[in-house]
Amino acid sequence: MQGIIVIGGGILGLSTALHILQARPGTRLVLVEKEQTIAAHQTGHNSGVIHSGLYYKPGSLKAINCREGYDRLLRFCREENIRHEICGKIVVATSEQALPQLQELHRRGVANGLQGLKFLNPAEIRDIEPHCTGISGLLVPEAGIVDYPAVAEKYAEKITEMGGEIVLGERVEEIRQNGNQVEVIGASRTWKGNAVVACAGLQSDRLARQTEPALPLRILPFRGEYYKLRPSSARLVNHLIYPVPDPAFPFLGVHFTRMINGGVECGPNAVFAFGREAYQKTDFNLRDTLDALAWPGFHKVAAKHWRSGLGEYHRSFSKQAFVRALQNLVPEIQAEDLEPGGSGIRAQACDRSGKLLDDFDFRVSRNIIHVCNAPSPAATASLAIGKTIADNLLSLLQ
Ligand SMILES: Cc1cc2nc3c(=O)[nH]c(=O)nc-3n(C[C@H](O)[C@H](O)[C@H](O)COP(=O)(O)OP(=O)(O)OC[C@H]3O[C@@H](n4cnc5c(N)ncnc54)[C@H](O)[C@@H]3O)c2cc1C
Repeated sequence: MQGIIVIGGGILGLSTALHILQARPGTRLVLVEKEQTIAAHQTGHNSGVIHSGLYYKPGSLKAINCREGYDRLLRFCREENIRHEICGKIVVATSEQALPQLQELHRRGVANGLQGLKFLNPAEIRDIEPHCTGISGLLVPEAGIVDYPAVAEKYAEKITEMGGEIVLGERVEEIRQNGNQVEVIGASRTWKGNAVVACAGLQSDRLARQTEPALPLRILPFRGEYYKLRPSSARLVNHLIYPVPDPAFPFLGVHFTRMINGGVECGPNAVFAFGREAYQKTDFNLRDTLDALAWPGFHKVAAKHWRSGLGEYHRSFSKQAFVRALQNLVPEIQAEDLEPGGSGIRAQACDRSGKLLDDFDFRVSRNIIHVCNAPSPAATASLAIGKTIADNLLSLLQ
C-alpha cells in the first residue's frame, strides 16, 4: 500500500489530503501539523471572503483555481451546512487616477467569467452602501463570506473518517528523498512513504529547500492588521467595501468586511513583519529577520516600495492614519467607531530580483510537491488547488 505524507494542517494541506483519499481510498495517509490545532496560521487569520475571481490575470493559476474553487466551495458549504453568504461586494474608486484600474478589474472579471458585474455611479454606490462615497464603483454580486476555520475543520473530519491520520503538535524538521522513498523526520517521530506534499505556508520555502537547495524564492512575511467596527457603528457598512487596489502591490488595500459570525472588520494593512509568526506589532524573530535581510530580493522590494511601506508602518502605529485610509471609502468613520481587531500574516514569495510573485507557485521534484506561493485567494480556491495537487502527485506515483 502506498504511503503519502502531507505537511501542514492549513486549508491547502487538508484539501490535498482529502482529495488523495477520495481518489485512492485506502491510501496510508498521514498529515503532520506543527501546531496543536489545524488552521492555526493563514487559514485561521484571514478576512473570510469568498473571492469570485475579479482581480486575477485571465489564464493565471489564481484565475482558474479561484473560479473552479468558488463553485466547489459553495457546493461543499451547502452540502455540509457550513454558514456562508453570497452578499456581494463593491469596489470603489475615490479618485480619477483609480478609474483606469477599475476598468481593468471589470475587463479581468468579464474575461474570468464573473456574472452580474455592473459599474455604479455615486448615487448607486449609496443605494447599496449609504455611508460610502466614491466617484465610480463596481458591483461584484458573486463575492461572499464564510468561516474558513469551519471549512478546514470539515475537511479534517472527512480525512479522519476516510482513514487518514492527522498528527498535531509535530514539527517536520527534515525531508529526505531516497529514490522512490521519502522520509519525513519530525521532532519526535519519523514517517516513511512514497510521496510527500508540503503545504507549509509561512515556512514553505524552508521545507522546499530541503529537497531543492537552489530554490529561487524566499517567503517574506507581511502582517495584516485589522480593526473592528464597534457594534454601535456596524450600521456604517452593509456588506463588503473594497478600494481599487494598487496594481504594483499584490494586496487589496484596507477594506470593510462583514464577517459571517457577526461584526465588521476593517483592514488589513500590509507591513513587513519581523518574524514569520509575528502577530503582534512588537514581536521579533531574529532568524526570520536575518533570513529576509540575507535575501537579495528583499533589498530590491524595500528599495522599490519604501515609500508605501513607510505609509503602511505609519498606519500600523497610528490609529488616526488608519482611520484616514478608511475615511477614503466611508468618510463618516471616526477613531471612536473602531476597536482593535486581530492580525494575520501573509506568506508572500519573493524572487531574487525583488519580484513579489503574483501567481500560485508549486514545485515538483520527483515524488515531492512543495506549495511555495499560495496567497489569497487560496482559501477560496482550496478545493481546486487540493484536487490539482492530488491528481499531480498520484500521476507521479504511477
Ligand atoms: C490577512 C489575510 C487575509 C486573507 N484573506 C483571504 C480571504 O478573504 N479569502 C481568501 O480566499 N484567502 C485569503 N487569504 C489567504 C488564505 O488565508 C491563504 O491563502 C490560505 O489560508 C493558505 O493556506 P495554507 O494551507 O497554504 O497555509 P496555512 O493556513 O498558513 O497553513 C500552513 C500550515 O503549515 C504548518 N507548518 C508549517 N511548517 C511546518 C512544519 N515544519 N511542520 C509541520 N507543519 C508545518 C503551519 O503550522 C500551518 O498550519 C488571506 C490571508 C491573510 C494572511
